[in-house]
Amino acid sequence: MKVGAIEAGGTKFVCGIVEIDGSASAADGSASATRILSRKSIPTTSPPETLGESLEFFRREAHALAPEGLSALGIGSFGPVDLHESSPTWGYITATPKPRWRNTRVAGYFRDELGLPVAFDTDVNGAAYGELLWGAARGLRDFVYITVGTGIGGGVYSNGALLHGLSHPELGHLKVQREPGDPFAGACPFHKDCLEGMASGPAVAARWNARPEELPQAHEAWELEARYLARAFAGFALILSPERILLGGGVGLRPGMAERVSTLVGEELAGYLPPLASREALARFVVRPELGADAGLLGAAALAIQAPL
Ligand code: ZN
Repeated sequence: MKVGAIEAGGTKFVCGIVEIDGSASAADGSASATRILSRKSIPTTSPPETLGESLEFFRREAHALAPEGLSALGIGSFGPVDLHESSPTWGYITATPKPRWRNTRVAGYFRDELGLPVAFDTDVNGAAYGELLWGAARGLRDFVYITVGTGIGGGVYSNGALLHGLSHPELGHLKVQREPGDPFAGACPFHKDCLEGMASGPAVAARWNARPEELPQAHEAWELEARYLARAFAGFALILSPERILLGGGVGLRPGMAERVSTLVGEELAGYLPPLASREALARFVVRPELGADAGLLGAAALAIQAPL
């Protein structure tokens, strides 16, 4: 089958046509192959411009690459978003800090214009679902996907389904206990010193007055970063009981970060969770995602497989 996919980000929309071979089923963790047949990156400016240009891409590329028609469209979006299917604003981007995108109808726009079933979820829930079908979470029933970069976002797959709940998880805004001696006020515009406020890329940049990628590997910034992430991950472990936590994003993928966070999760838990009592178990608990730079687009394609008909 061929599906459309949109990784709808705050700085760019990545649109793609993805071919999926075989039956991709979350239940048995089957590894079907995927190919990205075409992709285009479109700047996130105003909704009419960005959505219009995305629509144009799908009309043109579907005509050329999938004359039989696309099966569905999957959208993994920046948020907050409305995921309640019975809500009149299902598929909207809602209270985002980006003023032009507040209360923007996204999923319904593409459904109506393209005449396709549309699946809509958060970007991180999409990425989590892609890792479930094709990456580092194959065969699991409970895991967390977290990306640490410009912001911190998390998707949750719990008891065999993506978790939505009241709206959707916002793992990046969990309050974390401050490390003794850390004077940094925090960078989150809502909460100051939540996890995102203390450990996102911009938080690292503001705390050390340097671009994160220019801070050397031995800089104390990275030990502090791992400590805040581990503190939050220990909380996720206690609340959600995931089998694994996938740590992605520009900061999360730094060399050694997943390994150091694993060790520190063990310290935070202090032996309290028996399945994570050994070093080997901890090393398997915090790992890197496997889909790399394609995670967002393939995640959206994974959502499309589940689109309601
Ligand atoms: Zn916050």
